[in-house]
Amino acid sequence: MNSELDPAFRAFNFSAGPAILPESVLLEAQEHLLSYQGSGMSIMEQSHRGRDYGAIHEEAVSNVRKLLGLRDEYGVLFLQGGATAQFAMVPLNLLGPDQTADYTHSGAWASKAIKEAGVVGKVHIAADTSQDVPARVPDPGNLDVREDAAYLHITSNETISGAQWKAFPRSHVPLVADMSSDIFSRPLDIGQFGLIYAGAQKNLGPSGIALVVIRKDLVERAPESVPLFFRYKTHLEANSLYNTPPTFSIYLVCLVTRWLRHQGGLASIHKRNDEKSGKLYGAIDGSGFYRGTAEVHHRSTMNVTFRLPSEALEDSFLDAADKENLKGLKGHRSVGGIRASIYNAFPAEGVDALVDFMREFEKKNG
Ligand SMILES: *Cc1c(COP(=O)(O)O)cnc(C)c1O
Repeated sequence: MNSELDPAFRAFNFSAGPAILPESVLLEAQEHLLSYQGSGMSIMEQSHRGRDYGAIHEEAVSNVRKLLGLRDEYGVLFLQGGATAQFAMVPLNLLGPDQTADYTHSGAWASKAIKEAGVVGKVHIAADTSQDVPARVPDPGNLDVREDAAYLHITSNETISGAQWKAFPRSHVPLVADMSSDIFSRPLDIGQFGLIYAGAQKNLGPSGIALVVIRKDLVERAPESVPLFFRYKTHLEANSLYNTPPTFSIYLVCLVTRWLRHQGGLASIHKRNDEKSGKLYGAIDGSGFYRGTAEVHHRSTMNVTFRLPSEALEDSFLDAADKENLKGLKGHRSVGGIRASIYNAFPAEGVDALVDFMREFEKKNG
């Protein structure tokens, strides 16, 4: 059975993560599940040193390099443990024993990165918007970054609050960004960054791995006390094949990044994301019933957060939406409300369906 037979077979999946994947990617993976290109085996049953997997691995790296326009001075890594493992690996590798790392505190995800860095070494908060209402991120031109900071860490999109950096700081120390929920959603000047990382399950593929793009000179910073497996240098030298990588996840990342290139790359994806989120924010702003929770100039194109007049109405909104095949709209348990996650793979028709649903719901309940 596939979606062409039954339009309701696939939900409009607004889940914040793991999140929707492009349908063409899922269909292709399905087609090759029992026998990858005539091999008689799925790709997850083949050696990670074999020819078929080798080609996939190389293409995944190459797609990332092309999408970001990477020069030789940057390396691309696929590492296990998701973005959370990077909360630890970043300070383990970049924060020396007598140094301090600067972090911006913009919300729930930044707070986890800060907490982990504090286990490894000293942290200085360069700006704190975590308690601001409406939700916002720090002003990139107004950060208290120490002259001798080991690096400056930001969270480019706060998945829970729905606040997103629209411009990035120009920093005299390496800029490190957790881009888990908005990687590849817009063009990026990678030259501004020393390291970016993203857990895969929002905009890249399935959960469990993280993409890391690192300026190669930074891998030399890790102290000798860091175990080999937790050093960026180890994985850079091994081209992310130091041990058995999550081959099937990287295969899907390969297909998703190939799909992104076929969409016309980051500039056209950005345009579509602006259109999709613009429609939703327009529907919120055009009503006295719905209320956006992020500051207008900081609103995320990926996670659109809003509230209704009461929690009881939010509950019935979610129930009614679910019956219309609009799934995964419940806000994060820590903040409540509604969150529509509309990542790259989320179709424009799904946004239209939600906007129509919101109008109808307001008419009945407003
Ligand atoms: C989802 C998310 C994470 C956590 O990713 P895991 O892969 O579960 O470790 C970290 N940062 C941000 C911004 C996220 O959205």
